[in-house]
Amino acid sequence: ESTPERPGRPPSDAIVLFDGKDLSNWSTPEGEPAKWKVENGYFEVVAKTGNIQTKQGFGDCQLHVEWAAPDPPKGEDQDRGNSGVYLMGVYEVQVLDSYENKTYADGQAAAIYGQHPPLVNACRPPGQWQTYDIIFHRPRFDKDGTLLRPARVTVLHNGVLVQDNVQLTGPTAHKARPPYKAHADRLPLLLQDHSHPVRYRNIWIRDLESGK
Ligand code: MG
Repeated sequence: ESTPERPGRPPSDAIVLFDGKDLSNWSTPEGEPAKWKVENGYFEVVAKTGNIQTKQGFGDCQLHVEWAAPDPPKGEDQDRGNSGVYLMGVYEVQVLDSYENKTYADGQAAAIYGQHPPLVNACRPPGQWQTYDIIFHRPRFDKDGTLLRPARVTVLHNGVLVQDNVQLTGPTAHKARPPYKAHADRLPLLLQDHSHPVRYRNIWIRDLESGK
């Protein structure tokens, strides 16, 4: 179990994506080395260096991510501690400093951005470590690219259920509901550079696609 003071230990069958040391499992979307800053067991978004993504692709998965919003906080609404966990690079679980910071419902921390507000606001104060535990089932497409089954997501924020197996309408977007577009069964996990120095640590994933 992770606590704000100490990251927990990944399960033995998990793929560790960040163990506190380096970003060797990550790159820019163009395949260049990730330029975010690594220090003291975490890494931090470096504004304007762009998003980073895993070198490995994933589909159905259980994902554990820990993050902390900048302390002291700066800005308000969407301009405060904003980043994002993009499953398959296109389905965003919002990262935002939602502690005493108003924004639109489906833009809060742990929202499925632009689609599903979290059931409750479970956000801790800026600077404190927080956990996302995400269970994701990717969409299924037939050979012609027709949607057979939409993606589904469950999210626990700091151990509190905030997304209960919700169905995604398609890729997440700002003020838009784009339709599904057929894609591969496994795609990189992406973290968003929204120009705010959000920190991440202890990221691991369990691939639930095995055997297929
Ligand atoms: Mg975001």
